[in-house]
Amino acid sequence: MATLTIKKLSAEEEYPDLSQHNNHMAKVLTMDMYKTLKERSTPNGFTIDGVIQTGVDNPGHPFIMTVGCVAGDEESYEVFKELLDPVIEDRHGGYKPTDKHKTDLNPENLKGGDDLDPKYVLSSRVRTGRSIRGFCLPPHCSRGERRAIEKLSIEGALDGDLEGKYYALKNMTDEEQQQLIDDHFLFDKPVSPLLLSAGMARDWPDGRGIWHNNNKTFLVWINEEDHLRVISMQKGGNMREVFTRFCTGLSKIESLFKQKGHAFMWNEHLGYVLTCPSNLGTGLRGGVHVKLPNLSKHDKFDEALERLRLQKRGTGGVDTAAVDGVFDISNADRLGFSEVELVQMVVDGVKLLVEMEKRLEQGQSIDDLMPAQK
Ligand code: ADP
Ligand code: MG
Repeated sequence: MATLTIKKLSAEEEYPDLSQHNNHMAKVLTMDMYKTLKERSTPNGFTIDGVIQTGVDNPGHPFIMTVGCVAGDEESYEVFKELLDPVIEDRHGGYKPTDKHKTDLNPENLKGGDDLDPKYVLSSRVRTGRSIRGFCLPPHCSRGERRAIEKLSIEGALDGDLEGKYYALKNMTDEEQQQLIDDHFLFDKPVSPLLLSAGMARDWPDGRGIWHNNNKTFLVWINEEDHLRVISMQKGGNMREVFTRFCTGLSKIESLFKQKGHAFMWNEHLGYVLTCPSNLGTGLRGGVHVKLPNLSKHDKFDEALERLRLQKRGTGGVDTAAVDGVFDISNADRLGFSEVELVQMVVDGVKLLVEMEKRLEQGQSIDDLMPAQK
């Protein structure tokens, strides 16, 4: 019988070529650090090469500064902290290893948010991720673990207007799947190189699926980039209603999982622990699809977004560009601010952007509307 002998080459022989790279991981990683981290592994067998693979394969991204690394399990953030702490600090505006994160999922604390102009704001959405303690994360989990998560179904647990059903990807036709993607309800097929290189498309579509309520305003993605992605969305500009449903549904799901003996990964410092370091903390991305054909051509657009701590994307997901001046505008931060604070930034910021758009429509100046740095 053959025995397992793993060939061990030196750190110098294994070190990736990062000379063309522009992501947070490549900025932080050094040969010395790699040498130290190469000797370690999490209890589940996740290594530094698993952490950095996506950032090695994807030197940069056309629209966003990527982090270039992922966690394979809850322990990754501790075992590889020499790399991940500075990446987190870099990505999350100076968030220090000693900082503590705050959670606020009480929608009553949100001010306003029910009156974004639906002539400009086409749809509103809030999403987060949750990881289930005791299972490896999508870059490293096994088929069996993935299926076990799928089995911890939320079917039958939510009632009233949250009542819904689970649809496994493998039981859907290609047409049904594509329709859900086109309607912005379902994650894309694994075409994103960021996901592919991180190992998150392994065994696709095994164990993946979507749970949603009957009118598709509350949705849970199973086993995409995170164990769970919880989403509340609807047409128009009532972000307050969207956020309220998000908080209600999310807390019901959390108690349901607790009842079954499965806590979410969470700690005081990182908040909710997720696959991508960019999503730590709240994991929350609150955003709108908004028509800004004039403002988006203005040379102050990017500066206004930055000052409002907002981020832009195309409406087809993170890998797409905007079409006809319609953008996905969302909070840029996840960590160090509470859920309510982040949604408040989106609500207030989008309101201002729409006001600027209206000014430009009339051929008027927006100079006096430029916000201060938040
Ligand atoms: P996420 O942060 O949830 O991973 P992505 O940019 O990958 O977001 O997009 C996932 C899907 O969600 C895409 O189909 C996208 O069009 C849809 N989506 C995102 N924001 C909105 C919104 N405000 N309204 C409608 N659909 C949205
Ligand atoms: Mg995505």
